[in-house]
Amino acid sequence: ATPTALLVGTGRGAQLGILIKGPQVLESTRRVDTVLLDKTGTVTTGTMSLVSVHAADGVAEDDVLRLAGALEHAAEHPIARAIAAAATERFGDLPSVDEFRATEGLGVAGIVAGKAVVVGRDALLAEWGVRPAGDDTALAEARRAAEERGRTTVPVAWDGVVHGLLVVADTVKPEAARAVADLRALGLRPVLLTGDNAAAARAVAAEVGIDEVIAEVLPKDKVDTVARLQREGRAVAMVGDGVNDAAALAQADLGLAMGTGTDVAIEAGDLTLVRGDLGAAVDAIRLARRTLRTIK
Ligand code: ADP
Ligand code: MG
Repeated sequence: ATPTALLVGTGRGAQLGILIKGPQVLESTRRVDTVLLDKTGTVTTGTMSLVSVHAADGVAEDDVLRLAGALEHAAEHPIARAIAAAATERFGDLPSVDEFRATEGLGVAGIVAGKAVVVGRDALLAEWGVRPAGDDTALAEARRAAEERGRTTVPVAWDGVVHGLLVVADTVKPEAARAVADLRALGLRPVLLTGDNAAAARAVAAEVGIDEVIAEVLPKDKVDTVARLQREGRAVAMVGDGVNDAAALAQADLGLAMGTGTDVAIEAGDLTLVRGDLGAAVDAIRLARRTLRTIK
C-alpha cells in the first residue's frame, strides 16, 4: 500500500470533521455492507422534552411528575434530563432520593418521600416486582397513542403499582433522511437499532426512510446483534453515541462514534464524527472507498 494515499485520506477526513484512529480503519470500511444506526442521539438529536403527564385513576399528575423528576434528577440519560428539567420548572426543589440506582438502557429506581419509586421500561418494573400496567385503560390508551406517534413512553410506579406515565419526544436530526438515502445510494443497508419501544422506533425509521428496525434491545444485547449479523456474513458498521453503544461499536467491523456522544463511545469507535453529523458518516465511507481506490 502507499502510505501517502492513506495519509491524504486521513487528512481530508479531518477537514470533513471525521477523526480516524489509524489508516487501517480505511481498510475495514471498504467491506461494510450494513449500517446499524442507534436511534437516540444518533438519528435523533437526543435533546428530549416532556410532552405530557398521565396519572392513573385517583392519582395526582403532580405526584407522578414530582416523584419521577426527583429520581431522574440523579440520572444522566436524555430522558432523565427532560423529566428532571420539567419537574424542576414546575416545582422548584425536588424531594431528595435515597438508595438511587440507574440501570443503563432501562431506567431508574430509588426511595423518594418514603416511597419505592421505579421509572423506566417494563422490563425494569418487572425486575422490581411491579405489577404490569394495563388494568388502567386510560393509561394504556395514552401509551398506545403516544408510541404510535414515535414518542417514548415512561411508566412511573411506586408501592409496586404503575401510577402514571410520562411521554417524552425527541426530534429527528435535520440531515438524517438525506444521510440514509445516501447510504442506500452507496449500496449499504441501513438498520435502526434501539432500546426504545418498537412502535416509536418504527415511527422514527419511517420518518428517515429506514425500513429495517431492531427495537427493544437491551444495552448488553446491542453487541450480540452486531455479532449475529456478522455471523450471517455481513460486514457491519455501527453508528452510536451512548455508553450503551460502546461494546457494539467495538464489535462492529467499523465503529463510528458521535463526537457529541459519551467518551466511552468515542474511545470504542474507529472513527469519530466530530460534529455528531450523520452526513459525516456517509462522507467517511465515501472517503475510505475513494482513498482505497487511489491506492490500488
Ligand atoms: P437508545 O438505544 O435509543 O439509544 P437507550 O438504550 O439509551 O436508547 O434506552 C432505551 C430505553 O430505556 C429508553 O427508550 C427508555 O425507555 C429506557 N430508559 C433508559 N434510561 C432511562 C431513564 N433514565 N429513565 C427512564 N427510562 C429510561
Ligand atoms: Mg443513543
